Amino acid sequence: MGNTAVKRIGVLTSGGDAPGMNAAIRAVVRTALNKGIDCIGIRRGWSGLINGDFVKLDSGSVGHIINKGGTILYTARCPEFLDRKGRAKAIATCKMLGIDGIVAIGGDGTFRGALALTRQIAESGYKLPVVGVPATIDNDIGCSNYTIGFDTAANTAIECIDKLRDTMQSHERCSVVEVMGRHAGFLALYVGISVGATAVLIPEREVDFDRDIVEKIRSARLAGTTHFMIVVAEGAGSAVEIGKRIHEEIGIDPRVTVLGHIQRGGAPTGRDRETASRMGYEAVNALLADRGNRIIGTKEGSIVDLDMEEALAMVKNLEMYRYEVLEALTPSGT
Ligand code: ADP
Repeated sequence: MGNTAVKRIGVLTSGGDAPGMNAAIRAVVRTALNKGIDCIGIRRGWSGLINGDFVKLDSGSVGHIINKGGTILYTARCPEFLDRKGRAKAIATCKMLGIDGIVAIGGDGTFRGALALTRQIAESGYKLPVVGVPATIDNDIGCSNYTIGFDTAANTAIECIDKLRDTMQSHERCSVVEVMGRHAGFLALYVGISVGATAVLIPEREVDFDRDIVEKIRSARLAGTTHFMIVVAEGAGSAVEIGKRIHEEIGIDPRVTVLGHIQRGGAPTGRDRETASRMGYEAVNALLADRGNRIIGTKEGSIVDLDMEEALAMVKNLEMYRYEVLEALTPSGT
């Protein structure tokens, strides 16, 4: 049964930015407009909803953005939204603007905000469905195999590390590279496998310096390797500290590189553009089909939508099998 009540959709990006957010905004706006639904862009995430910071979006306003990193709607973190009063202001803004459906593009925090908002809306008896679209380079959303931005960030890191590898190989050096991932090692492990890292440190696996670094370097050395690449997820430790310890304990002087925010930028890959386009399209369809309060996800390549509450209770564990693959492909000698 269609929900003919939806006449105007508000779309926002919130939390950490991810390449492909623009493609998702474009997909939401174009899908909505082509179905005769108005679109309002809410700027700076949840804070824009509180402050009435918005822009009317037409088809042209999302032209030439599918290939751009960042987000034309800006993104922000909004402590005020943690509070009922802040969310009450956001609901008032929606009423004032005549918004009767929201698409929130972001990560776990953005969706927790969305859930808090939907609960408060339900208490007030008002009808305002919210649909979340997962966009984070960490790929750590439980209900979705894939999140927008991961592929671009991984490829950026891989390209940077390939460049480092050339110089490390020439000088027969050790490189320690820190990639993003405060709580999740999906990016670090994917990148580590792809660059042929000597070792990868991830938050999901307690770091044992002797086992995970000393032994790995020793073994690779015995197999004839003269350069070593250690990839560290930021949540597994500081690359600078690990570099120092390698110097102190092994006697080699590593070069440390923290890739940082460079991983968040750049033109989104085809995978991110295409996934964002499908997710944005399905987010609008969910609103129009009266399936509000949902989170969009991917499952075996297809787009699905799940109840927001259930989706947020889901946990995605890193497959330790991938760690085994990494280890199986590292040169080792005795
Ligand atoms: P991400 O979406 O990338 O995980 P954050 O964790 O920074 O980003 O969350 C984005 C915003 O979502 C926060 O600044 C806050 O406004 C809102 N938010 C996060 N958690 C909650 C919560 N439990 N209740 C209400 N709002 C929240």
